Amino acid sequence: MSLIVFDLDETLVHTCEREMKEFSRFRVPVAPREFWWCHVRPGAIEFLQHVRKRHKIGFWSAACDLYMAEVVDRLLALCGIEGTGLKMNQDPRWSAPVVLSWSRTKCRKENGQYVKHVPLICTGATLFDDNIVHSQHPENKGKVLKAVGFRGHPEDAWMEYYTHHWDTLFRLLRCDHAVAKPVAVRKCARSE
Ligand SMILES: [Mg+2]
Repeated sequence: MSLIVFDLDETLVHTCEREMKEFSRFRVPVAPREFWWCHVRPGAIEFLQHVRKRHKIGFWSAACDLYMAEVVDRLLALCGIEGTGLKMNQDPRWSAPVVLSWSRTKCRKENGQYVKHVPLICTGATLFDDNIVHSQHPENKGKVLKAVGFRGHPEDAWMEYYTHHWDTLFRLLRCDHAVAKPVAVRKCARSE
């Protein structure tokens, strides 16, 4: 079974100081003694439950451990997933329903940005993330499904879209990656 790793901010949730009452939400620590509101993207829980039936799932955020751990715990509780015994920043554990929870410490800093190198996870892992820093990184080619970002728009329906079209999107990502190789080989042969 393949592994899908989810980004948190602007992919599954939107966190800010202001409380937005139209969303399911909870308080999260963003610094010692400082709490902000974490708003769950509409349809995100149903989306996670849908993908979980097809793949192993994990989470990887460029945020700090404190924040990451709290958001993942709350999302898993909302999904009805309990008792995973998930530890922060451990290597993938394939027997558990949720096999990965990585924070900023697993990112590499490049040009002032925290970059997620997907091959670090394991062969065949796919990242679902709104940030093009990860999807456009050469090491991540064919390994990232780019999500449309969520910043608290009340009518956001992208999770519903991803749930309905997940199988096709996942297949297309693999297909796109597969056809990229023969093109590169042809170009190379022509230049010889
Ligand atoms: Mg993000």
